Amino acid sequence: MNAILLVDMDYFYAACEEVRKPEIKGKPVVVGADPRGKGRGVVLTCNYIARKYGIRSGMPISMAYRLKSDALYILPDFDYYEYVSKAVMDLLRKYATSFEQVSIDEAFVDVSGKAKSDDEVLALAEAIKKEINTRLKMPCSIGVSNSKLVAKMACEAAKPGGIRLVRQEEAKDFMSDMPVGKLYGIGRKTEEKLIAMGYKRVGDLAAANPATLRNAFGVFGIEMHNSANGIDESRVEENGEVKSISRETTFDKDTSDREEIVAMIKRLSDAVVQDVKGRGMSFKVVTLKIKYPDFTEHLKSKSLGHTSNSVADIVNTAVRLYDTYIDGGDGIRKVGIRVSTLIKSSGQRKIDEFTS
Ligand SMILES: [Mg+2]
Repeated sequence: MNAILLVDMDYFYAACEEVRKPEIKGKPVVVGADPRGKGRGVVLTCNYIARKYGIRSGMPISMAYRLKSDALYILPDFDYYEYVSKAVMDLLRKYATSFEQVSIDEAFVDVSGKAKSDDEVLALAEAIKKEINTRLKMPCSIGVSNSKLVAKMACEAAKPGGIRLVRQEEAKDFMSDMPVGKLYGIGRKTEEKLIAMGYKRVGDLAAANPATLRNAFGVFGIEMHNSANGIDESRVEENGEVKSISRETTFDKDTSDREEIVAMIKRLSDAVVQDVKGRGMSFKVVTLKIKYPDFTEHLKSKSLGHTSNSVADIVNTAVRLYDTYIDGGDGIRKVGIRVSTLIKSSGQRKIDEFTS
């Protein structure tokens, strides 16, 4: 039986803090920038108690502070979160016939062959959740289905702290009334375009003419149409030693000046290449990350088709991605450069793309 779980840790950074500071449990906890600082930082994660006061991740920290000034504000400690993440992933890997880490706090666990019925799959999900709760003292949510796409969508519905099974044959109905922007893989700009085309719900997209979507979005249009119909045949695949190297920076002032943005891309690319070379590696994939003033993010990647450790390769690719996909008209808040599919120049081992 084909069975895939998506395990997603709840309010991960804040939960990590609760583990090492048990005394803060039961209080509103916000991990992010210093609310009394001059920076323009945001809320990275907050626990569910903080959410009761209207605080959300991605919100400017100053706004969170206005909502609840006596919440506990904690600066992020990424080294520690990486350490906890490794413990989570090691625990999950034990249950998997194949495994794929999606981000620092999320992974697909393929348990095909380990369970013969829905009840047995649910019992496995229950066991995983329990082990995470008892050994790591952390909450998680689990989506269960026969494909990665539907497992992911089921997990969204399971939050916080639940387990949700959606069978493949139920997937289409399950997603049909959801706003189109909730479909896995659809970002803000695509969502806006879809709504403008009259596709408000996932069900509208499922019923759309695939040729119309292909004309508007290319191959991605066909993928979206499949997703809306609950079709996803991608496999759960181990990423090996997942790794990417990145640098990003926030502009002092939002800018739509292309020259300023390109200059920043060059500077970031320089720093990335120094890091890449320092590790004796080269890369294949270049990703440009753009954050808009409303904190939404835009990620665009392109494979070079060969390995490289040249600054020019990154800059040329990133600038082309910028000119093709990014609308800087309303200003840009933050730009980032990431390289992935890293290959050890001195060895054979391939380290795949890390999407964080
Ligand atoms: Mg999470």
